[in-house]
Amino acid sequence: MKIAILSRNSKLYSTRRLVEAALERGHEPRVIDHLRCFMDMGTDNPSIHYKDEEFRPGDFDAVIPRIGASVTFYGTAVVRQFEMMGTYCINESVAITRSRDKLRSTQLLSRKGVGIPVTAFANSPDDVNGLIREVGGAPLVIKLLEGTQGIGVVLAETKKAAESVIQAFMGVKSNILIQEFIKEAGGSDIRCFVVGGKVIAAMQRTAPPGEFRSNLHRGGSAQLVKLTPAERSAALKASKVMGLNVCGVDLLRSERGPLIMEVNSSPGLGGIEESTKKDVAGMIIDFIEKNAKPNKTKTRGKG
Ligand code: ADP
Ligand code: MG
Repeated sequence: MKIAILSRNSKLYSTRRLVEAALERGHEPRVIDHLRCFMDMGTDNPSIHYKDEEFRPGDFDAVIPRIGASVTFYGTAVVRQFEMMGTYCINESVAITRSRDKLRSTQLLSRKGVGIPVTAFANSPDDVNGLIREVGGAPLVIKLLEGTQGIGVVLAETKKAAESVIQAFMGVKSNILIQEFIKEAGGSDIRCFVVGGKVIAAMQRTAPPGEFRSNLHRGGSAQLVKLTPAERSAALKASKVMGLNVCGVDLLRSERGPLIMEVNSSPGLGGIEESTKKDVAGMIIDFIEKNAKPNKTKTRGKG
């Protein structure tokens, strides 16, 4: 099969591993920098221009989008163009967009009955106290909507601190959400790696001493973890609600069971393959072998 991997950098661990796994299985992988693609609209035959080439329907059997958070807008437009061409995309553009928007995904998860930390959001600072009360008071967590890798996630230990941080963020017109602090998670979270409706690997990430954010980019460490049935089913439900075939579902272990924090549509392969010793890239390619067919995209670039 001809597999396009949309990635800005072919040297990244995740990109390299996907290329390797595809080659091992006799496929023809190709890394395409989605920011260098351009598209014509208004013609009957959708296509994608890339450097001096033109991709047409049928040129690829499958697309693996690895769209970084900072280029979601353009990256998903490229995925949508492939969908319009009838090319199978392992994660659909609408699903990627849905999961990237922290407000939209929080609302969807809560509507579908997936456990999440108590979360509130507001646009104007009229009633900061009410907002703080809504999530049960301090300590609480304040998150910048466009943050990733732990940057923009703040723990306010007192009500005074919460008030001033919320006012500061609102003052510079940043979009934020406010969340109850799950203290009993103890600076750890669990990354469940989902491929095609199965949790195929899971790791626990633990923050370094004195830190509550367990992101590997913030110095967290990863180890193998055994999931409870409730955690497994929460992760699967979250992946279904988002409509993602491949995703990393992050959850916190709380006194009232697993609480989903976020669903990542381009989860890194490095930490999870290292801590679980599993061939996660290979399982993604296996899934494509079984499922990639032309014109299978549910939305065909409509959403
Ligand atoms: P990002 O998108 O930047 O990774 P997250 O929402 O995943 O932001 O938060 C980063 C980390 O902070 C999480 O992995 C977790 O360890 C910690 N964290 C986030 N929210 C909470 C919370 N409500 N309670 C306790 N810890 C939290
Ligand atoms: Mg995170």
